[in-house]
Amino acid sequence: TSFEDAGLRTLLLDNIKKAGYVKPTPVQKGSIAVILAKRDLIACAVTGSGKTAAYLVPVMNILLEQGVAPSHGMVQKPEVVIVAPTRELAIQIHREACKFAYNSVLKSVIIYGGTVTSHQRSNVQAGCNILVATAGRLKDFLERGVFDFSCVKFLILDEADRMLDMGFGPDIEKIAAHPTMPPKGVRRTCMFSATFPEEVQALAAGYMEDYIFVTT
Ligand code: AMP
Repeated sequence: TSFEDAGLRTLLLDNIKKAGYVKPTPVQKGSIAVILAKRDLIACAVTGSGKTAAYLVPVMNILLEQGVAPSHGMVQKPEVVIVAPTRELAIQIHREACKFAYNSVLKSVIIYGGTVTSHQRSNVQAGCNILVATAGRLKDFLERGVFDFSCVKFLILDEADRMLDMGFGPDIEKIAAHPTMPPKGVRRTCMFSATFPEEVQALAAGYMEDYIFVTT
């Protein structure tokens, strides 16, 4: 029931402390152990519940545990892809990822719509471990062949219900079914959603395997 009890790496614990987090919120308590155990997860969580750290902390711990292979001049391909409905949410996620990645080898890059792509494209091409993206912009980039998802270990769908409400269902499909994306069961998939209408359940059934349902 503390971040220390979860068996997280010291560097991550230090960064969690620096972010001002003292103890895990309920959704963090539920999700961190499940993701660390490498199970697919669907968590019922609203904004303000601490849902961002609920997936960032365990996923980043796993990346740090696995260590980073020497790159030999090769560009780091994304290992975690986080898809969000809005630019505001994507920016918050990226900020939190940067806080937790402080002093580590992990790098987060963000792409979102409503702005020119050239700068975002060069960031992506420089390499990253964590890619935070809005659904629509990521789909645009995919159509132009910018990404290689072959190293993806985690696909995270944040505010899944809102993405579907905003009409991003087909974009999520293009991302999850991209030819380079490891299939479900090979990659892990985590979904966070405030509500669970049939459409969200169908999304979970399509993209996840034997998932654990976390509710608070
Ligand atoms: P989120 O639900 O992920 O958007 O988080 C809402 C806010 O709570 C953000 O400003 C976080 O930085 C903060 N937060 C998340 N987890 C904790 C925690 N365990 N302790 C204190 N603040 C937290």
